Amino acid sequence: MKKIKNTMKHCSECGSRTLKKIPEGDNRERDTCESCGRIFYQSSKIVVVCIPEWQGRILLCRRAIEPRRGHWCLPGGYLETGETLEEGASREVYEETFASVENLKLFSKAELIHLNLVMFCFQGKMKNASFRAGQECLEVRLFEMSELLEMELAFNAHRFSLEAYAREPDSGGIHSFRIDQD
Ligand SMILES: [Zn+2]
Repeated sequence: MKKIKNTMKHCSECGSRTLKKIPEGDNRERDTCESCGRIFYQSSKIVVVCIPEWQGRILLCRRAIEPRRGHWCLPGGYLETGETLEEGASREVYEETFASVENLKLFSKAELIHLNLVMFCFQGKMKNASFRAGQECLEVRLFEMSELLEMELAFNAHRFSLEAYAREPDSGGIHSFRIDQD
């Protein structure tokens, strides 16, 4: 997960420099264009990850990219526009591991305030034992739960989800709906 810069130097509309300013009626500084007056509001980004399970084992990837190159993590990445959380999570699993997952269930969420990220973690069943490393991975492997809890993982948010999964893999109870318009 790349750190997101919570600032912009130039206006994306007119190219002029931006300033940090508290707009009228607002209560925090925003990047504001000196020339056209446009205000740039920053929002958190959404990351979707998955715990892909095959016969009691979990599929992890070893990162080929920074940050935390060489460390193991759950397959995941940024949600794209036009897809649901579930679609994003299974797409990321496929892009990074070429594994197909089904029966995705929302398992946990993590709010990474310092990175302006919200992470949604799904659990999913692999359709078969077929997988191989995608472009952003050095290798991909199935791990026993006991084994992966001993490892140093790339991200704490992944570790917390896996620890909760190890304790109670079918806790359930989180519901979600797809809404396309108001
Ligand atoms: Zn401007």
